[in-house]
Amino acid sequence: MTFWPNVVVATPAHSGVGASLSYRSELLLAPGTLVRVPLGQREVLGVVWECATEPPEGLTEAQTKAVASVLDGLPPLNARWRQLVKFAAQYYQRSLGEVALAALPPQLRELSNEQLARRLKRQAKAAHTLKTTTPTDAAPAPAASDGHDLSDEQRQALAALHSAQAPVLLFGATGSGKTEVYLRATREVLDTATPEGSSPTQVLVMVPEINLTPQLEARFRERFEPLYGADSVVCLHSGMTPPQRLNSWLAAHTGTARIVLGTRMAVLASLPGLRLMVVDEEHDPSYKSQEGARYSARDLAVYRAKVETEALRSAGQAGDPHPNPLPPAGEGAEAGTGSEPDVRCHVVLGSATPSLESWHAAEQGRYLRLAMPGRVGGGALPRLRLVDMNHQPKGAVLAPPLVAAMAERIGRGEQCMVLLNRRGYAPVLACHDCGWKSACAHCSAYRVFHKLDRTLRCHHCGFTERVPRACPDCGNLDIAPVGRGTEQIEEHLSALLADVRRPDGGPARVARMDADSTRLKGSLEVQLATMHSGAVDVLVGTQMIAKGHDFRRITLVASVNADSALFASDYRAPERLFALLMQAAGRAGRDAAHSEASEMWVQTWYPQHPLFATLKKHDYPAFAAEQLTERAQAGMPPYGYQALLRADARTQAAAQAFLNRAAEHSQGLPYRDQITLYPAVPLTIQRVANVERAQLLVEAASRGALQRFLSAWQPVLLQCRSLPEARGLIRFAVDVDPLAI
Ligand code: ADP
Ligand code: ZN
Ligand code: ZN
Repeated sequence: MTFWPNVVVATPAHSGVGASLSYRSELLLAPGTLVRVPLGQREVLGVVWECATEPPEGLTEAQTKAVASVLDGLPPLNARWRQLVKFAAQYYQRSLGEVALAALPPQLRELSNEQLARRLKRQAKAAHTLKTTTPTDAAPAPAASDGHDLSDEQRQALAALHSAQAPVLLFGATGSGKTEVYLRATREVLDTATPEGSSPTQVLVMVPEINLTPQLEARFRERFEPLYGADSVVCLHSGMTPPQRLNSWLAAHTGTARIVLGTRMAVLASLPGLRLMVVDEEHDPSYKSQEGARYSARDLAVYRAKVETEALRSAGQAGDPHPNPLPPAGEGAEAGTGSEPDVRCHVVLGSATPSLESWHAAEQGRYLRLAMPGRVGGGALPRLRLVDMNHQPKGAVLAPPLVAAMAERIGRGEQCMVLLNRRGYAPVLACHDCGWKSACAHCSAYRVFHKLDRTLRCHHCGFTERVPRACPDCGNLDIAPVGRGTEQIEEHLSALLADVRRPDGGPARVARMDADSTRLKGSLEVQLATMHSGAVDVLVGTQMIAKGHDFRRITLVASVNADSALFASDYRAPERLFALLMQAAGRAGRDAAHSEASEMWVQTWYPQHPLFATLKKHDYPAFAAEQLTERAQAGMPPYGYQALLRADARTQAAAQAFLNRAAEHSQGLPYRDQITLYPAVPLTIQRVANVERAQLLVEAASRGALQRFLSAWQPVLLQCRSLPEARGLIRFAVDVDPLAI
């Protein structure tokens, strides 16, 4: 008998290829089956979406090509995964095939069935050895492996999470022990026995940047590998080699891996036994993808939890022997209406400074907010000290009182951290005679002066040259840096602290950590270890140093140049600044014994700015309330919905013409009357690597209207691509729920 499977393959969003292609097969292929199919001259990986018993309309058997081979040995991707992918493709305006195939490990495309079989066998073997040697199915392992005794706040949060009927927003101060809550919740889920033949339970833990938090990975491995085996914890992020990624993906897909730790890409991993997702530091912008399908992994996690929960419930109602992962709801649970079984896939969004979207959802009751305001051990949050730069000596980069405070702490054997969001020595090199500046030849941006290797480097396109000896325009020998970056602060501090002694009598040591200092493989780990060991007294760095680290000896954190964010045109800038400063402050006083004396210093020319008043009180709820009021008045997210249409072209005129024509031709489309289209504008950095960039803002009061309009707009966009004015257009993309405008 012949069947006609519809197969999705990796097609770019605007290729005009439909959602799936029809093929022919002698076998009935289950939806989700991975296959290789001919496409043009090539053979490509594809996912069976449906399998019809009738030939597609208008096509004869002879006109369809046969499926080349089936990746047997791999279970099909399940319906929940397919629903997630379909939703992501629709919501973010991309093709189904692009999203589906991007979610699979690249190496899967290259392996033969034999190679695949060998890999699977190796993994199964490892998993089997472990089953016979660890107490997975037996009683829970000794409590010792559970680490600390929980604080009251942690215990309450865990209990509430247990019976939560909605996504959970874990609003926990820095150092409140959120990770411990994730670990315990994970343990509960993994301990749940599942019936023979069903997938073992699984947990997905996402973090913004896994390399920055090796501690987290270490804690999960230490806690769970003794219980569930060496392969039970796997990582999934873009820094891995293709074979590593394939292995992790296979382990997750087959259920060998019980815990997946990953970055945003992990949200699309196949996890047949998924029962819990954690999105740590959920406010972090890196959860939003900036290329391809520009999805928000946080938002997809919330959607995925809903899909998984619905599937569990309907399986339960159908009388399936489907696993019931959690015991019945405890006290305080709001649901459990009668016979409905309490099965859920939980999702926990954790942060000390939640995104305003999540905060708003909690205010509205769509998310369950669980607060852990106190630090573990009862330590205080650092005191905010604002330094009014108007009253400092002229030209001072670091205020004398700040330097004095740092010297004092170094003398006591404590550590300090200095935050500056700009790497290199100086953002610009300039000639004061003729006005020459270190502009990049390919971008509308300045090249940054890196003193260590005497280069001028463009941070947008990478264009690098040696620093000229003299001004290229007038020959003046006296070209000078303007502004400062981390290299300069490091140099400056080393000089200022030259006479300061540590308790052991040695000189104070200043180190720098940023994308430059950590470029080499392994160097980040070394630098983190040096910091933990206490060999470094002052760490200077970009936001990289503010995130997630648990340095125990830091008692002073300083932010030396944050003002630009106070008046940025991006309406999310205050939210981001507040989060960054709270995160940075959270690095100080993590040892309760020192927390009373811990301080967060902020140098500013605008000490009266209201943002600082709420920061001083560590009052995120007050800050969020103010911001939400402003957003409500302006109809900004989360009270309104946005998308950007972006265009890259050879000329700015072509980019803008494409966008403006696309807007004009949208007249009469469904929901057009509920949509505001703004005129096309160049991006702040208009040209990068000789490509001109422009964008057009799309706004709507309703998410549904925006969605339907964008779908209807797609064919118009494809048409406008070939208009004469748009000649020179390179690409366009829709960014739904953009983070930066
Ligand atoms: P957060 O992620 O909320 O900033 P962490 O989970 O990193 O906080 O916890 C901060 C520190 O407190 C860590 O060193 C952790 O090991 C420790 N810790 C967490 N929970 C407890 C507890 N119940 N008892 C003692 N120490 C704890
Ligand atoms: Zn000059
Ligand atoms: Zn450049």
